[in-house]
Amino acid sequence: MLRDWRSELNRFLILIAATAVVGLLTGNLTLLLLLAVVGYLAHTFYQLYRLYSWLYHLSDAMQTELPEATGIWGNIFDGIYRLQRRERDAANYLKNILNKAQESSAALEMAVVMINHKGNLEWWNRAAEKLLGFRAGDDRQQPVTNLLREPRFFEYFDGGRYNEPLNIPSPVNKNVVLEFQITSFGEGDRLMLVRDVTQMHKLEMMRKDFVGNVSHELRTPITVINGYLEALLDHKDSFPPRWAKPLEQMSQQGQRMENIVRDLLTLTRLETQSLPKQLDRVDVGGLLREIGGEAGQVFADKGHEYTVELDGEYLLQGSLSELYSAVSNLTFNAAKYTPANGKITLKASLAPNGIDIEVADNGPGIEEQHIPRLTERFYRVDESRSTETGGTGLGLAIVKHVLVRHGAKLEILSQPGKGSRFICHFPAERLLPVSA
Ligand code: ADP
Repeated sequence: MLRDWRSELNRFLILIAATAVVGLLTGNLTLLLLLAVVGYLAHTFYQLYRLYSWLYHLSDAMQTELPEATGIWGNIFDGIYRLQRRERDAANYLKNILNKAQESSAALEMAVVMINHKGNLEWWNRAAEKLLGFRAGDDRQQPVTNLLREPRFFEYFDGGRYNEPLNIPSPVNKNVVLEFQITSFGEGDRLMLVRDVTQMHKLEMMRKDFVGNVSHELRTPITVINGYLEALLDHKDSFPPRWAKPLEQMSQQGQRMENIVRDLLTLTRLETQSLPKQLDRVDVGGLLREIGGEAGQVFADKGHEYTVELDGEYLLQGSLSELYSAVSNLTFNAAKYTPANGKITLKASLAPNGIDIEVADNGPGIEEQHIPRLTERFYRVDESRSTETGGTGLGLAIVKHVLVRHGAKLEILSQPGKGSRFICHFPAERLLPVSA
C-alpha cells in the first residue's frame, strides 16, 4: 500500500521535475508548471468522477465491470470492488441460511410459531396452519389468545411457567390432542412448538384404563381369598402344625396384594379424574394431629415420639381425603423406615410463596442417587426392607400425584444416617383466610 503511495508521489514529482526542466530550457517555467498541476488535477478529478458514477450506479456496478485505471486509482477501485463483493457474498450466505431454515421448518410436521413481546403472532410455518388453523396474511400480528381461546391455554400462556408442556384439544378438530411447549427468548419473545400427540394420548389412556380395569377385576378375588385365609388362620389349631407358617405367609402376601391393588386404584383415580369442583377447607393443624395420632396407634410397637409443630393456624383449599392420604403416606413411611424409638415431626410453616407441610424423621436416610427416582411407581431403595415393611412401592407416587393436583411440589432432603425430610410446598393461592 505504502509502495503505491510512494510511486504515485514519485510520478507527481517526476512530472513536476520534467516540467521544470522543460520550463527552464524554454523560459516558460511558471506557465508550464501551472499547466502540469492543472493537468494532474484534471486527471484526479476525472478519476473521482468515474469512481463517483460507478458507486452511484451501484446496482449496475455490481453487474458491470469495474472501471479500468492505473496507479493509485486502480488500487482504490479494486479495494472498493473487493469490499463490495465480500458484503454481497455474506448477504447471499445469510439469505441462503434463512431460506433453508424457512424451508426446513415449513417441512416440519410440528407447528412452529413465533410470538412477539406483545403476545402477537409474528411468523408461523405451514404445519401451524394445519394444526391450529392460522391463516397466512389475515392472522399476522393478531394476539395468539384471540385465535386459541381454550381457557387452559390462556392460563398456560399468561402464567409464564413453561417447564411442563400443555396438552389440549386442537381448535380445528376436537378429536386431535395437541401438545404445546413454549420457550422464551430475546426480549419477551416466545417460540411455541405444537405437535399432534393424539396417538400417544390414546395409548396413555389405554394404559390407565388397563391398569384401572385389572386392579378393579383383581379386587374381588383377592378379597375373597384373603377372607378365607383369615378364617383358616382363625382355626389354625385344627391343622397340622406344618401348615401354620405357609398359612401365615399366604395371608401376609395376600394382604400385600390387596394393598397394591388398593394403591393402583387410587393412582388410577388420581390420574383420570380431575379435582372435585367443590373443595374442602382443610384445617392443616387438625390434619397433622390426626395423622400423627393414627400413626402412633398403627405403629404403637415401635415406640416413636410424634411431634406436631405449627407456626400458625392454616386453612388449605383442597380435597381432604387426598391431602390426608398424601400426608399419612409420608408419616407412615417415616414410622415404617425409622428404627424403634425414633423421632417423627409433622410441621406446617409459612413459606415465601405459600405454606410448607413437612414430615421429618431421624431414620436411616436415603442415598442421594435414589432421591430423584423415589416418586416413580414401584421404585424402592431396598427391596427386602420395603417388602418386609409391607410397602407397595406406590406410596410416594400417590403423594406426588396428589400434590401436582393441588399445584404443590414435593421436595425430599435426606442423607444416609441423618434422617429424611419430605416437604410439600403449597402455593399461596391454596391458602384460605382463617376467620377469627
Ligand atoms: P413403599 O411402599 O415401598 O414404602 P414408597 O413409594 O412409599 O414405597 O417409598 C419408596 C421408597 O422410598 C421406599 O421403598 C423406601 O426405600 C424409601 N423411603 C420412603 N420414605 C422413607 C423414609 N422416611 N426414610 C427412609 N426411606 C424412605
